[in-house]
Amino acid sequence: VPEADAPLPVLGSDVLVPLVTGGEVAYAALDYAASAPALRRVWDDVAAYAPYYGSVHRGAGYLSQLSTDLFESSRAAVAEFLGCRAEDQVVFTRSTTDSLNLLASVLPAGTRVFVFETEHHAALLPWQRREGVEVSCLDAPRTPGEAVATLERALAAREPYGPALVCVTGASNVTGELWPVRELAGAARAHGARIVLDAAQLAPHHPVDIAELDVDWVAFSGHKLYAPFGSGVLAGRADWLTGAEPYLAGGGASRKVARRADGGVDVEWHTTAARHEAGSPNVIGVYAIASACKALTEAGFGTLVEREQRLVTRVREGLAEVPEVRVLSLFGDDAPRVGVISFVVEGWNSSHFAAALSAEYGIGVRDGLFCAHPLVRTLLGGHSEEPGECGAPDAAPGGRGEAGVSTAEGRALNAIRVSFGAGTPD
Ligand code: PMP
Repeated sequence: VPEADAPLPVLGSDVLVPLVTGGEVAYAALDYAASAPALRRVWDDVAAYAPYYGSVHRGAGYLSQLSTDLFESSRAAVAEFLGCRAEDQVVFTRSTTDSLNLLASVLPAGTRVFVFETEHHAALLPWQRREGVEVSCLDAPRTPGEAVATLERALAAREPYGPALVCVTGASNVTGELWPVRELAGAARAHGARIVLDAAQLAPHHPVDIAELDVDWVAFSGHKLYAPFGSGVLAGRADWLTGAEPYLAGGGASRKVARRADGGVDVEWHTTAARHEAGSPNVIGVYAIASACKALTEAGFGTLVEREQRLVTRVREGLAEVPEVRVLSLFGDDAPRVGVISFVVEGWNSSHFAAALSAEYGIGVRDGLFCAHPLVRTLLGGHSEEPGECGAPDAAPGGRGEAGVSTAEGRALNAIRVSFGAGTPD
């Protein structure tokens, strides 16, 4: 992480200015589930390489060769990080959202997709837009066992058998709870379905081994894994990826292009990961992901998990001391979770509470519905009011206890999320 005493950039925001000008910098960024600050090692690696980057796969010059080498060795590093099987492909994308949209674009016609309503919108929505794909949106389970049973039932009811895909999260971006990925993969296998793991929240906190979990694909984002923005990964089985049209058409994805005598254009697309990586790739972003993967592996997930769990316990115990706080949970208080904890404070508008945490205490958290509207609604008691866009719902006027803070019955409309990882300074 950046040095604790490094000066904060002044953002021109009323909120940050007093903290910066007050002499002592005291700002805790506890929104790792949205984006985790890059590791010092990642910044150093990127800074060392940044003056020298050139085009990837497109030049004979030294810088181009260096960049191509870094790009491809980053692919190998990510494959190792994920425990990829020999036949798996690692495709570099912009983000988890991009990865899952890419996968949605290659589904064979007639695929049925099974997804829990509890998913992040990035995992819930891409399938809805694909023509010829039917989506079964499954009820929120209240235990991990119920998740497996619900999926089994839904898969068993699928008639007639055709291509099917299950999409599940490894760790919830709202509750931090771990999902029974291996068991869900087992259910998918038993019914001839494939499974993609949304590891956006799992990969920064736990080892993700694609072969051991027996999932077909894994998607994650660099900016939640202690690397900067702009790069993500879709790794897994090659057949659907190479059997479909490229996600984007352009240079890099095409192997051979020729103009036909009739005026048309013939294209032969690559059958490697390059098929879905048209255009000049984000070599710095990809290199940063690989650097983060290596840093996490070298630190050792055993140590990282232990340290993070100490922080989880500390936060949980602290919140338990405040009677007005209700921690949100689908699987129950004792369910294993990563460093992602959402809660509501009785009588408070969550957005105002979060703003006060930042302005008065220098604690940066997230408020809103966390791009998982159906899940947060379920956790808050199923209110049916229209929320605002992906972040906080349109702020209601007033402060504690005023109109707009909650529904007429006193339920909160949105929540507060505190999230961190082993890279969080004490
Ligand atoms: N899935 C989960 C579980 C997430 O938490 C997020 C980001 N909040 C995403 C998908 C989407 O990631 P990105 O915004 O990097 O595409």
